[in-house]
Amino acid sequence: MTTAETTTQAETNGDSSREWIEKEHKYYQSTFKRTMVMERGEGVRVWDADGKVYLDLVAGIATNVLGHAHPAVVRAICDQAGQLVHVSNLYINKRQVELAEQLYNVSGGMRAFFSNSGAEANEGAIKLARKYGRINRNGAYGIISMDRSFHGRTLATTAATGQKKYQDTWRPLPDGFSQVPFNDLEALKAATTDMTAGVLIEAVQGEGGIYPASTEYMHGLRAWCDEQNLVLICDEVQAGMGRTGKFFSWEHMGIRPDIVTMAKGLAGGVPIGAMLAAPRADIFEPGDHGTTFGGNPIACAAGVATIQTILGEDLVGHAARMGEYLDQRLRELEAKHPSMVSGVRGLGLMRAFDLAEPRAQDVMDRALEQGVLITNAGPSTIRFVPPLIIQPADLDEAVAKIDTALTAL
Ligand code: PLP
Repeated sequence: MTTAETTTQAETNGDSSREWIEKEHKYYQSTFKRTMVMERGEGVRVWDADGKVYLDLVAGIATNVLGHAHPAVVRAICDQAGQLVHVSNLYINKRQVELAEQLYNVSGGMRAFFSNSGAEANEGAIKLARKYGRINRNGAYGIISMDRSFHGRTLATTAATGQKKYQDTWRPLPDGFSQVPFNDLEALKAATTDMTAGVLIEAVQGEGGIYPASTEYMHGLRAWCDEQNLVLICDEVQAGMGRTGKFFSWEHMGIRPDIVTMAKGLAGGVPIGAMLAAPRADIFEPGDHGTTFGGNPIACAAGVATIQTILGEDLVGHAARMGEYLDQRLRELEAKHPSMVSGVRGLGLMRAFDLAEPRAQDVMDRALEQGVLITNAGPSTIRFVPPLIIQPADLDEAVAKIDTALTAL
């Protein structure tokens, strides 16, 4: 955001927001450029510190899958807080086992390891792939990931992220990571060496701009990993939990990975990550990996309630239907603003369109003035990752407001 844009937003803030923004600048490191203070949420709406309400199509960037303050999540957190807030992973906690069982069932038999975030889930997957390579491929440790991918902000996941803008400041990055063009099997084959242990991919790229992999590519990738004895890791941090209209986005392509990573929506907004392993890759032994907070009872209780609600209310099917509807409405927007909007794409409730110019921030700012929160994926792409509970009337309202925003530009 430029200084001028920051000023525009700041001018519309009331006194309460301004006070908190000043304090934030004083006490918080300058990692985020932000000018809005959020106070509370309910369903698909959030209220800022000045009482202004917004339709929230950002949803914590694909995290609040059940919207804000969903009664099932609130109840699960409160009940668990009164019973057991935390216990060391030296002991078994029942909620952790229950969540692992749910994930075992939805993944068709993968066992879980819980962390606190998506980056940590990917760190666990990278370690597991390295162990697999050490045992099965003469010490191979290399991970091939995709151009335009995003896998997190730790050093290893930064090295796996296929976007220079996230990498350049932090060189030298950990050894053993390389990237190839997405959806290009020959490039992947050419990049595979004796030192390759596995491939890490988002079946639907999120931060990179909402690009689904082709079914043909994913089948070729699976076959190549089998042939070369590599592990196939699917990063479902953003695309998982029903968002794309299937519980896992790789189900669209009809393949099964060896390792799956999750986070974001897994506990409806409570911090958690998960790394799932199919029997072939399930080779961690005691002492290999660990965490203090990962799989904490409160996070897992929220996770159990979230998955129960998603499955019980068929929110996966609902996401598929709402995704179709959003796609149709965005195509109408494209037809109405052909010089500005193009490339409507995505799966389920993971959608995007491109702008003719790098003006995503302007569109987001104008949409904000209209009372709708949307996010971007790069300077020229608008991204939609709303709560899975969203209804057609909400989408109509959002599209009408974005239409107004585009017209204003
Ligand atoms: N992987 C993907 C696909 C993501 O979209 C993200 C975050 O946006 C991450 C990993 C990192 O997750 P976290 O921010 O929880 O570490």
